[in-house]
Amino acid sequence: VPSPPTPEDAFAAIVGGDHVLTDADIRASYEVDWTGRFCGRAPVVVRPGSVDEVAAVVTWCAAAGVAIVPQGGNTGLVAGGVPVGEASGAVVLSLRRLERLDPIDELAGQITVGAGVTLAALQQHVAGSGWAFGVDLAPRDSATVGGMVATNAGGIRVLHHGTMRAQVLGVEAVLGDGSVVRHLDGLVKDNTGYDLAGLLVGSEGTLGIVTAVRLRLVPDPPDRVVVLAAVPTVAEAVAVATELRRTVPGLDAVEAVLNDGLALVTDAFDLTPALATEADVALLAEWAGDGPLPEAFADVLADYPSSAADDAAGRARLWRYREWMPDAIARIGVPHKLDVTVPLSVLAAFADAVPAVVAAAAPGARTHLFGHLGDGNLHVNITGVDPDDDAPDEAVLRLVAEYGGSISAEHGIGRAKAAWLGLSRSPAEIAAFRAIKRALDPAGILNPGVILEGRA
Ligand SMILES: Cc1cc2nc3c(=O)[nH]c(=O)nc-3n(C[C@H](O)[C@H](O)[C@H](O)COP(=O)(O)OP(=O)(O)OC[C@H]3O[C@@H](n4cnc5c(N)ncnc54)[C@H](O)[C@@H]3O)c2cc1C
Repeated sequence: VPSPPTPEDAFAAIVGGDHVLTDADIRASYEVDWTGRFCGRAPVVVRPGSVDEVAAVVTWCAAAGVAIVPQGGNTGLVAGGVPVGEASGAVVLSLRRLERLDPIDELAGQITVGAGVTLAALQQHVAGSGWAFGVDLAPRDSATVGGMVATNAGGIRVLHHGTMRAQVLGVEAVLGDGSVVRHLDGLVKDNTGYDLAGLLVGSEGTLGIVTAVRLRLVPDPPDRVVVLAAVPTVAEAVAVATELRRTVPGLDAVEAVLNDGLALVTDAFDLTPALATEADVALLAEWAGDGPLPEAFADVLADYPSSAADDAAGRARLWRYREWMPDAIARIGVPHKLDVTVPLSVLAAFADAVPAVVAAAAPGARTHLFGHLGDGNLHVNITGVDPDDDAPDEAVLRLVAEYGGSISAEHGIGRAKAAWLGLSRSPAEIAAFRAIKRALDPAGILNPGVILEGRA
């Protein structure tokens, strides 16, 4: 009796030997996350080049009971795309070769792209067309459209254009039994049953492998102005953000770096100090439009020391003080990254309380706060803690729940936060999640341990 094929042989027959990676050195970058906190082992990395190859790999894994960790750009921050915990020893399925980039549908203002297309490649592809993509985030050179759909990524333009969920008009995906669902017509009005695309957005690779997406585009205005302002307190910064949202049409971003964050970035990258004054909050606001800057934009920020830029180089220079925060923090040590959201009414009180809560749970740890102020989303980063010590994570997430917030604003639950899902979701909701998981991934092979602990 011939012995059954090994996973390597089976995958090589599907995708070709060149795209089955077993060498430890080559696998290494697929096995560790961006922070370096989560590192596991995957005996095989498979790189399919088409939806049919993805379907064949998933079908084989479902029959053999082999777990799969889908991976795009591997910039995720909740250990969802690396083979750790319940997914230790799983196959990593890299979707980066799915680089389909269709022409823009100019009439509809839409585009169909493959899951492996990076955000930067999509942005370059549509540049100059008068259209833009509505979601933008710092790791644009690596993050893929598939990963962004799977995490329902947010980023810096959410207050203007919404999260990924608001951009996705349809998906093509491979479900846990290997079947392909495809709905890429891009009809804006299409009430023909369950919204499978909506279900897959934010499902973090647990319900299906996204292979292609139909996306809406937004107008690309010719003019932009960025202001970086020193605001004395978090409460005042929240009020400023709200006033900007209320009075400035075309407001594109309101971001913030808190406490000593501005000094941290400035020192880490030897930048010229951005503001003459020290303040609790460095608030970055961007307006985008066609024609004169709305007076309200300058009026609302008039009382604060600030720097402004309307040319591309100047704007990019100001954005660095915000976008380079994660890298500045990573230079201190392996960070614990907690991405949370609380109601704006308690955001200042939460920001005030969180460093003491961290210090109590992990003496000597340092707390860094920054985020997307316009929508109440703070990134709580902690340095000076052992990567395996969850105590400060749990303390912060419990504080978030006390303040009526969500333990994940935009990064997802992944494996890093699965133990605390119950802080943000009721038992009835979690039971519904498990039922959906069982229906779309009956063999339980898609990203085990992500969102839901244990078997569905
Ligand atoms: C410096 C930095 C800044 C960031 N800023 C932001 C931000 O502003 N806003 C924000 O929302 N996020 C941010 N992130 C997090 C991250 O960039 C996003 O979550 C992004 O969407 C991940 O895309 P990716 O291709 O790297 O996905 P990966 O990291 O490869 O995967 C993320 C998750 O999606 C699953 N997955 C990946 N591809 C697929 C697919 N094709 N089908 C099904 N499942 C899949 C993985 O299994 C995993 O669970 C940031 C990360 C870094 C490092």
